[in-house]
Amino acid sequence: MLLKNRLFTPGPTPLLPAAQTAMAAFTAHHRTADFKVLYTRVLADMKDFIGTANDVLVIASSGTGVMEGSISNLTSPGDRVLVLTAGKFGERWRDLAKAYGCNVDLIEKPYGETFTLDEVRAKLTPETRAVYVQATESSTGVRHDVKGIAKLVRANADTLLIVDAITGLGTTHFDVDGWGIDVIIGGSQKALMIPPGLAYCAISERAWKRMETTKNPRYYFDFRKERKAAAKGESAFTPATSLFAALGAALDFIRQMGNGDLVMGRKALIDNAELAAEMTRAGVKALGLKLYASSPGAALTAVSAPAGIDSGKIVKEFRESFSAVVANGQGDMKGKLFRIAHIGYYDFLDTIGILAALEHVLASVTDKPVEYGVAVRAAQEVYAHARSAEPTAVAARN
Ligand SMILES: *Cc1c(COP(=O)(O)O)cnc(C)c1O
Repeated sequence: MLLKNRLFTPGPTPLLPAAQTAMAAFTAHHRTADFKVLYTRVLADMKDFIGTANDVLVIASSGTGVMEGSISNLTSPGDRVLVLTAGKFGERWRDLAKAYGCNVDLIEKPYGETFTLDEVRAKLTPETRAVYVQATESSTGVRHDVKGIAKLVRANADTLLIVDAITGLGTTHFDVDGWGIDVIIGGSQKALMIPPGLAYCAISERAWKRMETTKNPRYYFDFRKERKAAAKGESAFTPATSLFAALGAALDFIRQMGNGDLVMGRKALIDNAELAAEMTRAGVKALGLKLYASSPGAALTAVSAPAGIDSGKIVKEFRESFSAVVANGQGDMKGKLFRIAHIGYYDFLDTIGILAALEHVLASVTDKPVEYGVAVRAAQEVYAHARSAEPTAVAARN
């Protein structure tokens, strides 16, 4: 059969057609009234997408740029910070904090696991200036307990909580202000369904205040400078104008998913990811495969390769036979697992399709017989159950 290219990777994710058209058509210069209108509207909409009343910044950068800014703006050399890590992105927090001279306390758990709140409580001290964590660790598929961690951090008056929710936003329900998350970070190439190139964050008053006294160097990622410019409807430097056009279209699409209400649309997008993830987990388990994550989130499903089989073979077979790109493990996890994402623009047919493909992929890489339809049936049952429980919720509109 003919092959269509499809991404099932946890970033970049499939592009929203309306966003691609908006970006291709966009020509405005960034210091014009027209662009100011777009910029201001997008920043306001991003508050609803994130679910916060805090000021939001959108910067031309990959996600890591704003992660770095969340270290450089909020710490001074020698500051004691706590990094919670159980994967490649947690390790990025550790490395960034060290690069800026922080005194790093670590809670390090094996890949595929998460932290207990007792472990966090034991490491958190009144001197801890900031805690850095992922919401969903994209290298393992694990969802960390941000709500529980936030509750512990908020008991300390002077400790900031910074959450890398780059694959968490749009796949996970957060009460950003209610839980007291000081900085929450996202990236354009994940649930927003547009290409890589924008990173964004929402910043609490407590964190803005911290920036008055911190001493680490910063220039391009100077959040205070960016906030001042944003208040005037501008960015500090040349913004990625066409990506803003794409982002405007993506936010309109999400609003449409909520029947005109962006907050409801965000919820529908998250529910969509949750249902796709639940269908995928059911399908994978029905094939006798094991989930890699101890507490899987809805951003992606990481699946352990069957014993004796390199997951690279599975990834390759998906690509060659179905033109479907799933992700291999990163770093030491390479060869051990594969990852199927549910972030953003995935529907029922994508979800059923990747499971149907998985059945064939398994049949060709293993010598055990595969009963066709087993994964698809398990996913169908999950979908049918969701549909009968809440018929409108599963019909997110294009
Ligand atoms: C994608 C991702 C990042 C950022 O990666 P960039 O390549 O810098 O955009 C950071 N953290 C997590 C959890 C991610 O999934």
